[in-house]
Amino acid sequence: MARRGLLLILSSPSGAGKSTMARRLMDWDPTLSFSVSATTRQPRPGEEHGVHYWFHDHTGFRDLVASGGMLEHAEVFGNFYGSPRGPVEASMEAGRDTLFDVDWQGGQQIRNSALGRDAISVFILPPSIAELERRLRGRGQDSDEVIAGRMAKSRDEISHWAEYDYVLVNEDQDACFERLKAIVLAERLKRERQPDLSAFVRDLNREFEQR
Ligand code: ADP
Repeated sequence: MARRGLLLILSSPSGAGKSTMARRLMDWDPTLSFSVSATTRQPRPGEEHGVHYWFHDHTGFRDLVASGGMLEHAEVFGNFYGSPRGPVEASMEAGRDTLFDVDWQGGQQIRNSALGRDAISVFILPPSIAELERRLRGRGQDSDEVIAGRMAKSRDEISHWAEYDYVLVNEDQDACFERLKAIVLAERLKRERQPDLSAFVRDLNREFEQR
C-alpha cells in the first residue's frame, strides 16, 4: 500500500513569516508540492498565473466553486481566495505531501474537508506586535493604509491560534525553521504515514526463526 500524502497547513498573521517558512520548506524538500491558491484579486507586477496564484474573474471562480473544484475558499477584503482541489488530490495519490499557505478560514475548511484526516496544521506567531509591524514595513511592499488593514486583520488571525496542532513563535528565523522541520519529520514518521512496513517486519521475524 502506498504512503498517503500529508496536507501541511501553515497560517499566520501577515508579516509573521509564513511565506519565508513555506519557501524554506520547499527548498529543503523538493518533493513537497505547494498548493498554488486561486484568487479573484488583480495580479501585482511580477506575479505569474499558475506560479504565485491562479488568477480568475468572479464568474470563473464561482464556476469552479460550484463544480466542486475548490477544496476551500473564502472572501478576504472583497476578493475570493481558494485552494484548487485537483492538484492536491493528485499529489496525495502520488504519496507526496502538499503545503498550504492559507489563513484561518482556509485552515478550518481543509481540516473539515474529506481530506481533513490527513491534515496537520501549524500556526506561526510573531514575537511581538511591534515586531510584526516592523516586518510588514520592512518588506517595503505596502502603503500605510494597506499596512493598517493588515494589522487589523492580524488580530483576527491570531485569535484562531488555538485551532492549530502546532504553534511556533518566529523570533529567530533559523530556530523557527528547525522546529518546523522537526514537525514535518515527526509527522512523516507516524506509522500510518510510512509505506506499509508489514513485509519488512515479516522478514525480521523470518530472521529470528532462522537463528
Ligand atoms: P508572511 O508570509 O507571514 O506575510 P513573510 O514571510 O513575507 O511573512 O515575512 C515578512 C517579513 O519578515 C519579510 O521581510 C521576512 O524576510 C521577514 N522575516 C520573516 N521571519 C523573520 C524573522 N524570524 N526575523 C526577522 N525577520 C523575519
